[in-house]
Amino acid sequence: MRIVVTGGAGFIGSHIVDRLVEEGHEVVVVDNLSSGRREFVNKSAEFHVRDLKEREWGVGIRGDVVFHFAANPEVRISTTEPSVHFNENVLATFNVLEWARQTGVRTVVFASSSTVYGDAQVLPTPEEEPLRPISVYGAAKAAGEIMCGTYARLYGIRCLAIRYANIVGPRLRHGVIYDFIMKLKKNPNVLEVLGDGTQRKSYLYIKDAVDATLLAWRKFEELGEPFLALNVGNVDAVRVLDIAQIVAEVLGLKPEIKLIPTTPDGRGWPGDVKYMTLSINKLLKLTGWKPAMTSAEAVRKTAEELAGELWR
Ligand code: NAD
Repeated sequence: MRIVVTGGAGFIGSHIVDRLVEEGHEVVVVDNLSSGRREFVNKSAEFHVRDLKEREWGVGIRGDVVFHFAANPEVRISTTEPSVHFNENVLATFNVLEWARQTGVRTVVFASSSTVYGDAQVLPTPEEEPLRPISVYGAAKAAGEIMCGTYARLYGIRCLAIRYANIVGPRLRHGVIYDFIMKLKKNPNVLEVLGDGTQRKSYLYIKDAVDATLLAWRKFEELGEPFLALNVGNVDAVRVLDIAQIVAEVLGLKPEIKLIPTTPDGRGWPGDVKYMTLSINKLLKLTGWKPAMTSAEAVRKTAEELAGELWR
C-alpha cells in the first residue's frame, strides 16, 4: 500500500514510518523540517520537503492512506502565540483534507490529543466525554477532528482520530523530559519545575504507541464507520515531581528542585491540563492492545535514551 506520512521527520511520525517500511509499505514522507530532522527519515521512504500551510503542498503526491502527524505540538505556546496553532494545526489539517478529497485518498489517520478533553470530569477519560479544550492547541486538535469527521460523512474519506496521551521515547524533542534534560545540561545544580509539581499525567512509550496506532488503523479499515476517535495512552500516570526525580537520577545528579508558580491552581502554564489519564477500554475491546510499560517505566527509559542523544 502507498502511505503518505505528514510529519514523518518528527518524533512519532518517524517511528510510524520505520514500522510501515518494515511491514513492506511504500511510504512517502512530507515534512517542512520545522522541528523534524532529515536524519530521522527512513532511507527507504520517498521524502518531500513541503509546507502544509501552502494550499498546493500536495502537487505530485499520491497515497491510498495518509497518516497526518505534522503539527506544532508545543501546547505551551498556545498561551502567547495562538495563531501558530491555528496555522500549523487547523489550516494545515484543512489543506491535508482538501488534498485527500481531490486525490481520492481512502483513509486519514489523524494525530489528535488528550488535550481535546480539557479538564475532564471523568478520569480515566473515555472517548464519550465532551470536548472542552482549555488550550488553543487542544481547540485546534478538536477542530481537526470535527473537520475530519465532516469530510468522512460528506466526501466518503474515512477518518480515524487517535487521541494520544503523552508519548515519549527516542527522537523526542519537546515536552517535560526533554526540557528537564536541557535545563540540567545548562545548570546541573538547579532544576526549575513549572507549576506546583503535582500535575499527574499518563505517559506511553513510543513502541506501545506505534503498536496501538497500527492495530487501531488495521481494525478501523475493517469497520464500516466513516469516523472513529480512539484514545491511546497508559493505564496509569506519573507526577511531574517524580519525573524530575527520575531524570535527575538517570543523569546521576542531585539538583535543587525549584517550583515556579505560573497559575494560582498550580498548573505548569495557563492551559495546562493538570490531571490526565485516558480510558483505553474502547481500543482494548477492538484490538486486545494493552501497553507493555507503565508510565514511570516509559519516562525512565526515555530519560536514559534522550540522555544518550542529548547529554554530550
Ligand atoms: P514533532 O514536532 O516531533 O513532529 C511534528 C512534525 O511535523 C515535525 O517533523 C515538523 O517538522 C512537522 N511539521 C510541523 N509543521 C509542519 C508544516 N506546516 N508542514 C509540514 N510539516 C510540518 O511532534 P510529535 O511529538 O512527533 O507529534 C506528532 C503528532 O502527534 C502531532 O500532530 C502532535 O500534535 C500529536 N501529538 C503528540 C503527542 C506527544 O506526546 N508527542 C501527544 C498528543 C498528540
